Parts: sequence; structure tokens; C-alpha cells
Amino acid sequence: MAFKNSYLKKVYDDVAARNKGETEFLQAVGEVLESLEPVVEQNPDIIKTGVIDRIVEPERFIQFRVSWVDDAGNVRVNRGFRVQFNSAIGPYKGGLRLHPSVTGSVIKFLGFEQTFKNSLTGLPMGGGKGGSDFDPKGKSDAEVMRFCQSFMTELCKHIGADTDVPAGDIGVGAREIGYMYGQYKRLRNEFTGVLTGKGLTFGGSLGRTQATGYGLLYLTEEMLRCMKNDSVAGKTVVISGSGNVAIYATEKAQQLGAKVVALSDSDGYIHDPDGIKLDIVKDIKEVRRARIKEYVQSVPTATYTEGCTGIWSIPCDVALPCATQNELDGASADKLIQGGVTAVAEGANMPCTPEAVEKLQAAGILFAPAKAANAGGVAVSGLEMSQNSLRYGWTFEEVDSKLHDIMLGIFHAAYDASEKYGSAGNLVMGANIAGFLKVAEAMIAQGV
Ligand code: GLU
Repeated sequence: MAFKNSYLKKVYDDVAARNKGETEFLQAVGEVLESLEPVVEQNPDIIKTGVIDRIVEPERFIQFRVSWVDDAGNVRVNRGFRVQFNSAIGPYKGGLRLHPSVTGSVIKFLGFEQTFKNSLTGLPMGGGKGGSDFDPKGKSDAEVMRFCQSFMTELCKHIGADTDVPAGDIGVGAREIGYMYGQYKRLRNEFTGVLTGKGLTFGGSLGRTQATGYGLLYLTEEMLRCMKNDSVAGKTVVISGSGNVAIYATEKAQQLGAKVVALSDSDGYIHDPDGIKLDIVKDIKEVRRARIKEYVQSVPTATYTEGCTGIWSIPCDVALPCATQNELDGASADKLIQGGVTAVAEGANMPCTPEAVEKLQAAGILFAPAKAANAGGVAVSGLEMSQNSLRYGWTFEEVDSKLHDIMLGIFHAAYDASEKYGSAGNLVMGANIAGFLKVAEAMIAQGV
């Protein structure tokens, strides 16, 4: 990391020393600290509040054993995590990820990012994240249920509707939230809004399933409109991933008149130059929980290619990485630039490496960072919490219109901060600064 400011360099070096080898967490912290250089230069008094030293250390980090019994009767052991990163502006809030790549570093990077993302939504939510290295792929429904019940048996001691409210992330959708909610209720004998992303029959919000993908497109549309006097209509779009975020990003992109030509999973990608048929993808991924390569059985004019990075060689106007962290590196950014991309917006959390972001920004490509671009999911989670508190449910149209307003608000907060701090249009810097300032003000007001 290259810091011009010696104080920020020291904060980063302290974090690196305390979190040795935690590459994902250090990557996320490094990017935010770099963005804060103009804030520290314009307000040097912030140094003595210690708010920057404090904001990079989680308030609480919980690690626990999750034992469960598989269908063959074997005892299996996984590691569970919950990081309660920052509660300055509201109860901890953030998803649960079930994936073999989950480590303490991954959970801390996600919890750190969540703190700023949640702040940007304008809703009163602190930052948290959790999950496990459990791999749901290939597990039976009964195994997933037993895992979720065991996971919640420990997690329930640490969460609550006014304390910490988890939701879904990679590997956690409506099925897993249902099993976890059932277990929480069994153990606590309480019907509360302790999780979001719940089923519609037990307190879930209309529009939550679509929220991250739809929100990504609302922000992308506003970015194109304000910064290029353009729109998504008529654009060729490449989207990585084929989970919840990618599916509903595709749906909204198509509704806005774009042509989505590619999707992927962790094995490979499909390219359909005529435009992805989303009902086929939904059947493969949402109903049958199968692999994306099956698409070409239904659409023989489409192609399937093994491996994930080749997707960025497909020429497109807009690229939306919606799979996972660090999936788009410097070489992939070069391919996108050669292919004529004009805008990139992150649907996954930190999908672009620092080198990729630098290359895209240097080439004048519009770039919307995850904290701003994918905040629609947690924003509608916040609206689910509000509806649960009201013991009431809004219509899809009401939720969708609030989501739209929130995404526009996020874009303008990030854009305005980028202007005010001397890098007009650098939304990475703007989102980090705008997200930071609100949390920092609350932390300072609440004392050390
Ligand atoms: N996992 C999502 C995120 O990364 C949503 C979290 C939530 O709804 O609490 O923001």
C-alpha cells in the first residue's frame, strides 16, 4: 500500500501487524484508508479522536464449532463465525455466507465493508457479517437443515432483533434462512425480526429477493445518466455469477432494455449472443440447484466454456461482476477495456482486485464500487426490519420505489463526496468517504 499520509500509513501498519496474513481483510482496510487521505488532510483534528484507529478493529469477533450429522450417520465439524464490526449507527446488520472459502479474514473483510455500505443506505444499521466454511454444494436438504440448526444453536446467543440481525449471502437463501429462523424461534420462544430475507408467510418483505440485483441496475442507470448522459437501454451486458444477485441483475437489465449475453458459475460461463433466456436460468439455478452449463442443452446456439475469467473477454458495454471477491483481476480489466466496456458496477463484494480498479479508472471507465452498487440487498433488509417493527407489510411497488430512491441517494452521496474531496467522479473514494463520515460522527459523539 502506498500512503502519502504518515498517520494513515501507521494505522494500516498496525492493522497489518494485528491481522497477519489476513489478505482479504487487509485489502479492504487498505482501500478505505487510502480514500480517507483527503479527509485527514482537510480535517487533521480527526487524528486525535482516534476514530480511524477504532473503526478498523471489530467490536467483537465470535468463532464457534458447528457439529452436525450427515445422511450416512457421520459426525461432521465446521467452523462458524460472526463479526460484530460496528454498532455506532444501529444494530449490527449483515449476511451469513456458507462457502468452503470462508475464513476469519473473509468474514472480517465483509463485516468491515458492510459497515460503510449500511451507512450509505441512510438507514440505521451497523455492520456485521458471519458464516461458515460449510459447503452446501452436493448436500441433501436434510443435511443443510441439520447444519443450519446446529449453526443457529450457537449463533442465537449473540444475536437479536435489536442487537444483531443476520441475513443471506453466498450459499444462504430462503431455504437456509427458514431453517435458521425456525431454530431461533424454537430456542427462544420469540417471534421477532431477528433475521431478514425471511419467507413471505413469516415476516419477509416483498422485493427482498430481487433487491440486490435490481438495486445494482438502479445505481448503474443513474451513474450512466449523470456521468455520461446515457442509459442502460440498448447496451450489451456481461454478468458473472448465476446466484441471486446475478439473476435479478439480469432481470432488471432486461426490463431496462439491455441485452445480457453471459452468466457464469464457479465451473465456467455461458455465452448467448441472442440474449440470455432468464426463465431457463431460473429453472436451472433456483428450482433444480444445478450447474449453469445445462443452459446449452436448452439453447443449443449458446456456448459453454470451462473456467471463469474468460467471461471478461466477451465484448460488452457494461460489466457487472456478481460472483465473488477478487474474481476480476488486472488482466481481466485489460480484456474488458479492449472489448469496449464503458461502465463496471460491482454486484458481488470486492469482486475487482485493486489492480483492476486502478486500470479501469485510469482508462476512464465509469466504476461503481460494491459498497454503493450492491447496497440494495441490505437496504431492503432494513425495510424488512421496519415492516417487522410495524407488524405490517408494504406492497412490492412500495418497497421497490423506496429501493429506487435509496440507490439514487447512494449514488449522489458518493458522487458529492468525491467532488467535495477533490476527485470528482471517483466513486470508490466518494463511497468510502460518505460511508465513513456518518459512522465516524456517531462514534465521536458517543465517546471512546
Ligand atoms: N449479504 C448482503 C450484503 O452483502 C445482504 C446483507 C443483509 O441483507 O443483511 O450486503
